[in-house]
Amino acid sequence: MSTPTYAIVGANLAGGRAALTLRDEGFDGRIVLIGAEPHPPYERPPLSKDLLKGHREAESTYLHTEDYYAAVDIELRLGTRVERIAPRWSGLELSDGTTVTADHVLLTTGARVRRLDVLGADLDGVHYLRTLDDALAIREQLSAATNLTVVGAGFIGAEVAASAWEVCSSVTLLEAGDLPLGRAVSAEVGRFYADIHRDRGVDLRIGTGVAEIQGEHGRVRRVVTTTGDVIETDLVLIGVGTTAATELADEAGIATDNGILVDEFCRTSIPNVSAAGDVARHPNRYAGGHVRLEHWQTAQNQAMAAARAMLGRGEPYHEVPWFWSDQYDLNLQYAGHPAATDRTVRRGDPDDLSFSILSLRDNKITGVLAVNRPRDVRAAMKLIESGTPVDPDVLADAATDLRKLSTIGGR
Ligand SMILES: Cc1cc2nc3c(=O)[nH]c(=O)nc-3n(C[C@H](O)[C@H](O)[C@H](O)COP(=O)(O)OP(=O)(O)OC[C@H]3O[C@@H](n4cnc5c(N)ncnc54)[C@H](O)[C@@H]3O)c2cc1C
Repeated sequence: MSTPTYAIVGANLAGGRAALTLRDEGFDGRIVLIGAEPHPPYERPPLSKDLLKGHREAESTYLHTEDYYAAVDIELRLGTRVERIAPRWSGLELSDGTTVTADHVLLTTGARVRRLDVLGADLDGVHYLRTLDDALAIREQLSAATNLTVVGAGFIGAEVAASAWEVCSSVTLLEAGDLPLGRAVSAEVGRFYADIHRDRGVDLRIGTGVAEIQGEHGRVRRVVTTTGDVIETDLVLIGVGTTAATELADEAGIATDNGILVDEFCRTSIPNVSAAGDVARHPNRYAGGHVRLEHWQTAQNQAMAAARAMLGRGEPYHEVPWFWSDQYDLNLQYAGHPAATDRTVRRGDPDDLSFSILSLRDNKITGVLAVNRPRDVRAAMKLIESGTPVDPDVLADAATDLRKLSTIGGR
């Protein structure tokens, strides 16, 4: 009997981790890892942080070198798109004209940036940030720019503004909504970050979108805002969100709904096709239902869970969601489902740039958001997972060591 072939579509964090896990778990069949980008799988978080500031180089973001994949017999097909899943699963049709026939397909196609539909958005000097090549192109122009205008103060936009502030003489940050970081954080935390950006010298303009981008000789020169202001600028970064890359799945008749729908074993609606990472929407008991999480943690761990499930050794993937963002000297982390709450407890003080906000429901912690308090987050994640009841007053007491609560119980 011939050994099976497993094909993975999308060669970034989720795809790379899944391929490596298949080998680590002893799978001795053929593994084909197909990715549209020219780089081997890499980590995206440094792209808006240290890499943009020039503190890290491209290769340092790679999970492994291309040679490593060859050494463990993973066929990397880089710079190659899967154009179509052929009818009746007869194979994957690749952009280089070849076809890969597989016994099991894992879709890790991730997400792509949402484009801004305004006049001038195609001028030179207008960028989006998703890929390593995007980040390298922005970095090259950043130090020479007199003003960077960032459109959108979500996590990517806010991180780029904070990183650019170190290397660029002037940074403007436009946010169409009421506060930076959108719905991911409470209004209190949004206001905290608005103050931080302004204190550091970023020109943050709230309730302000882009009406038009104007250029000269094909290159960006100014941004006209929806409030009628004109900002002289020579570099623009647009960060207005992403959409799940579901088109292959849609065309193949796999169930999607803001992402490819999977169960806790990462199985899609079609046998022998799984999905994981940013593209997948999965049931998560700690997040209040089906969620599509664009988190490093999910891309890494759900993909590993998917690989084990493909080998018949799967365990249900349930993990307390966890995300971080670094802006200036502030490390923000959140975990669980902070919005599911009937009471919040604050520890620490925003004025000291060190605080955490714990969300409780029925005296059990459901979520945590912390700035410069990673230990609180780690301990709270254990309490979320165990569902241990806690006394809110004990929790609020600065003298309480949350790590002890998470090992001995909350009362
Ligand atoms: C700038 C930036 C900073 C971030 N910072 C943080 C952070 O601080 N903390 C955090 O928790 N998360 C962060 N994230 C999110 C995290 O990086 C993502 O959740 C993670 O990269 C998702 O990995 P993925 O493999 O699922 O998808 P992706 O990284 O999107 O990879 C999908 C890959 O599939 C390829 N592909 C798509 N369609 C096809 C096709 N048809 N054929 C072949 N290949 C295809 C794409 O080209 C891409 O390379 C950040 C993301 C970005 C962009």
